[in-house]
Amino acid sequence: MIDLVTGAAGFLGSHLCDALLARGHEVIGLDNFFTGSKDNIRHLLADRRFELIRHDVINPILLEADRIYNFACPASPIHYQFNPVKTIKTSVLGAINMLGLAKRVKARILQASTSEIYGDPEEHPQRESYWGRVNPIGPRSCYDEGKRVAESLMVNYHSQNGVDIRIARIFNTYGPRMALNDGRVVSNFILQALRHEPITIFGRGEQTRSFCFVSDLIDAAVLLMEKEGVTEPVNLGNPEEVTVRELAELILRLTASRSKLVFKDLPIDDPTRRRPDISLAREKLGWEIKVQLQDGLRETIAYFRRLLSA
Ligand code: NAD
Ligand code: UDP
Repeated sequence: MIDLVTGAAGFLGSHLCDALLARGHEVIGLDNFFTGSKDNIRHLLADRRFELIRHDVINPILLEADRIYNFACPASPIHYQFNPVKTIKTSVLGAINMLGLAKRVKARILQASTSEIYGDPEEHPQRESYWGRVNPIGPRSCYDEGKRVAESLMVNYHSQNGVDIRIARIFNTYGPRMALNDGRVVSNFILQALRHEPITIFGRGEQTRSFCFVSDLIDAAVLLMEKEGVTEPVNLGNPEEVTVRELAELILRLTASRSKLVFKDLPIDDPTRRRPDISLAREKLGWEIKVQLQDGLRETIAYFRRLLSA
């Protein structure tokens, strides 16, 4: 089995490469190193079953593969808003190129979609049947709408060309190998706490998220890819919901930090509540969360502690 992973040098992509190699597959990792780092995959470079290609998914590429995991795309708001037009191209042209490849070599393809396709949701928790509430012209739209087009491309290549598709709607995921400058809430708070710097809470910290540890997410993605016939979108995430303030307080406690909380402006269109309904993943994949938030945070804190002391 040859798996192609786009975004292989990123946070999720690098863990995915590890998991696929551990299952005995050959892996081709592809990345343009925008937010990814060779450090995340350095340990794989000596593995004869792993190949790394520097490539931008907005350009076509021809390779032989049985499975394509399309994970290339910046995921942190500060990174995807840095060059929004490029973010749209990555999602849209990237999906077109990877679907074209899947069609040509008859590979099965899994698209990393996102809870962001639900926008700032009126339905809570979010089920896959919910269409979402996305501002099409707001600062998050380059990411949200790009991913919505990617889903549309997936279902249309499936119905029009018979491409075998999987759509993973991934909710907030955290863990080791998030970049130091990633800017997402878990890595920001842990780094601030370890450095005893102020913890930057956006808004009043009453907005909620549901945080999934990376190993659980990767298990689910591989299960979904290998499950026959699940071509509809599937939510993948941890249904345990916390406020941003609760997350900050938990991280302060786990790091025994002297940091104080500071309150900054809430970014425009920041979703108020987010929690997945994972009934479909449970039913179709037999998947359950194994790592509780506290345990996953402990592991992530240990990773950043090592990184800071290196
Ligand atoms: P990340 O930023 O750590 O990784 C993204 C990787 O894609 C990086 O290695 C980057 O260099 C690469 N990349 C970006 N644009 C590219 C391009 N045009 N061509 C080739 N490579 C490119 O982010 P992540 O958290 O690992 O997210 C991976 C995927 O999962 C993304 O598609 C993201 O939208 C999706 N996702 C992640 C989360 C999460 O919470 N981590 C949630 C929902 C969806
Ligand atoms: N957030 C925060 N402080 C930070 C970074 C993020 O309070 O330093 C908040 C952000 O406003 C959002 C939540 O944490 O409400 C999750 O933000 P993140 O960027 O991690 O992901 P997303 O908004 O895409 O879910």
